[in-house]
Amino acid sequence: MNLVLVAIHIEASARAVPLGSAMLASVVKRAFPDVVHTRILDLFLQQSAEVCAAEILASDPDWVGFSIYVWNRSLSREIARILRIRKPSLLLFAGGSEATADPVGMLGEGFLDFVLPGEGEELIVEVLGGLLQGASPAEIRRTIRPSPVKDLATLPSPYLDGSLDPSAYSGMLWELSRGCPFRCDFCFESRGTEGTRRVPMERVKAELLHFEACGVSQVFVLDPTFNFDKRQAKAILRLIAEQAPAVHFFFEIRSEFIDPELARLFASIRCSLQIGLQSADDAVLRKINRSIDQKDFEAKVLLLHQAGATYGFDLIYGLPGDTLDGFHASLDFALSLAPNHLDIFPLSVLPGTRLHDTAPEFGLQHLEGVPYTVIASPTFREADMRAAARMAQACDVMYNQGRAVPWFAMLLDALALAPFELFGRFAGYLETHPNPDITALQAAFFTSCFSGRKEAAVAADIVTYFGYSGGLLEEVARNPPGTSEDPRERLRRNTCLATFHHDPRVLLEQLESGITDLEHLACVLPKHACLALLYVDGGDALLRIVSPAEAEAFERIRSSCGPGSECGDVIHFMETVLFPGQP
Ligand code: SF4
Repeated sequence: MNLVLVAIHIEASARAVPLGSAMLASVVKRAFPDVVHTRILDLFLQQSAEVCAAEILASDPDWVGFSIYVWNRSLSREIARILRIRKPSLLLFAGGSEATADPVGMLGEGFLDFVLPGEGEELIVEVLGGLLQGASPAEIRRTIRPSPVKDLATLPSPYLDGSLDPSAYSGMLWELSRGCPFRCDFCFESRGTEGTRRVPMERVKAELLHFEACGVSQVFVLDPTFNFDKRQAKAILRLIAEQAPAVHFFFEIRSEFIDPELARLFASIRCSLQIGLQSADDAVLRKINRSIDQKDFEAKVLLLHQAGATYGFDLIYGLPGDTLDGFHASLDFALSLAPNHLDIFPLSVLPGTRLHDTAPEFGLQHLEGVPYTVIASPTFREADMRAAARMAQACDVMYNQGRAVPWFAMLLDALALAPFELFGRFAGYLETHPNPDITALQAAFFTSCFSGRKEAAVAADIVTYFGYSGGLLEEVARNPPGTSEDPRERLRRNTCLATFHHDPRVLLEQLESGITDLEHLACVLPKHACLALLYVDGGDALLRIVSPAEAEAFERIRSSCGPGSECGDVIHFMETVLFPGQP
């Protein structure tokens, strides 16, 4: 029998990995080695249902299983509808969080034979076994009950048994646990199971070594409270430092369980940490079965900061009992802790969560279909939700995409504004000055904020330098130059030209010596309009002041740089201007 497991991803990205499907493929392979032939199919939201259905049918399936989440429910439904017409004998089923949350609604749509709620590994073996013995889909449907896997050690590893080839993807999802010891009302993670089940250390080690051998460059760890078991977390971090120092890891952690040693271990490897703050207001959090001790949160984050670890926070707006002012206070609290990024979301009332049951008590109005977001509450009106969404977008553009960490506090102090006030202004500016070059947009915005003040030019220079050099560093980190990299490619990706009002080398010297008062900088920095080439060499962002003629040569060469172009000019330019004295 041919089984096709369909994973529909939001977009092509390092996170677009069909881990759920691979886990099922793995147990099916073990249970029915010569009887069921399983294929995993990666599809994307941007594809039409017709194209997706055609790809599925090209594998000549007998059974098709979908992993259904909030974002792909409607496309999955449409694909299933087409498959039903094109090949009526097909057996169609679904798993995933939407199938778990709303099995009745999904079956009621009329295209699926059955759904597998909850964890699918034991269920799929049972169900396919029944089908192979002649059970009808109706019989199967009647007998299905959720069956969480008690011991993760009993599951085969999809990475190690070849069901999921890490070298075929640009990133990897790495499941280290299931369940959660906490019970946040808006979250699905802890429903249906007690406590946390962890993957045993021997398997963690074997999978890590396999990722390293496969050349995986980034790993997204699936464990919503990675540091809850500090002893195991520290053991894994030490293992990573020894065995996979070049791989970048993404962890979700809880602030309560950070200690100085853990902070140092995080800082010793390549990683980014995400902490769910959600709100800085304890009274609001208590309504959704969470809490916060602001002092403790600050102290724990300070440990990360002092160790040099990279961390970001999540915030939610529209929480029960929260107000727009309360959301602004949470935003300001989060940014006072200098996160590397701040991700802000509207509250979603997901079917199957406790919040879904309590939403009427709180007077939460929300979308009944995906993405289930809150429309309004008694304390957060519809207009407040719109204002918060506008603020969230301004924060994302200025702070996250705009790489504002190095200068945010400095410019904010000089303007004597709270973060929410600055984002409020920036939101308006964004609407009237669209510009895909975010650094240029920010520089122009701050020039207007400091209009008539001597700090305007320094502010623009600071934003320009950190924006463009940060962008180059990120690009090089994403696509490290190979030893035989084409010099044209190196010039295209690793360099950019920027205009400054002051000599950026002098500006950087001042900043590095600890002078961060914008007014003082504006007084001591001599005006010196110039052009600088920013480039990355050996992992560092460097710059070189260039003459207008050199800048013109750079622009000319760069714009004509392409796979078919001559290398001679590029090499000459790089040898004489960018990297003089280097081979
Ligand atoms: S939000 Fe995080 S901590 Fe809370 S239940 Fe979900 S996974 Fe656990």
